[in-house]
Amino acid sequence: MDNARFSDQLAVGCRALGVSVGEDVGPRLHRLMGELLKWNAKVNLTAITAPEEVLEKHFLDSLAVLPEVTGATSLLDLGAGAGFPGLPLRVALPSLGVTLVDAVGKKVAFIKAASATLGLGVRGLHARAEGKPEAEGIPRAQLLIARAFMDLPDWLALAPAYVEPGGRVVAMLGKAQTDADLAARAAERNLKVVSARAYRLPFSGAERQVVVFAKE
Ligand code: SAH
Repeated sequence: MDNARFSDQLAVGCRALGVSVGEDVGPRLHRLMGELLKWNAKVNLTAITAPEEVLEKHFLDSLAVLPEVTGATSLLDLGAGAGFPGLPLRVALPSLGVTLVDAVGKKVAFIKAASATLGLGVRGLHARAEGKPEAEGIPRAQLLIARAFMDLPDWLALAPAYVEPGGRVVAMLGKAQTDADLAARAAERNLKVVSARAYRLPFSGAERQVVVFAKE
């Protein structure tokens, strides 16, 4: 997919999601896709390799949470894999400090290489998050995020240890959960639900929900 078509499709998708991004974001994500597919031919980073699918399932799915992330000063993406959602969010929000953590070295090597090639200035850390940020060398952040990392109860058990005072935890979910279920999951960890928003990906119609939690 060439840059023009990619950027067009990205713009269509962003409009459908109700998020707006700068004009440079399409070309920069097109370049990121090129790096991802180049690396992926040698080291297995992602099972999603068709450009249309990378565009929707990796990039648009990451950008969909911009409303929840915009305004944060620091973002920590745990279990970032090939850099999702942290890398696209950083491309869209150049003043956001982003740290991406993964337990697999080759994924962190890709994150670092992509950051250098695109001049993103993100921090890639090869570490296993198990709830002890100091010992693991993982910095706390104002906003914690992860995609396809853990189920919700495990995520709400792990994430708060990595949040700065006053910070928040974002959960990116598939099928939407009811307000009552979300409140119950939050209460188990002395958290409260700040917001919950259900939406669909623009081309496949896949269901998503993004939920923000804060400490009580
Ligand atoms: N967030 C990415 C990758 C999801 S796959 C995406 O949505 O595309 C889950 C990733 O979490 C894998 O890359 C795996 O290596 C990593 N992982 C699993 N347990 C981890 C842990 N305890 N700490 C850090 N990374 C972990």
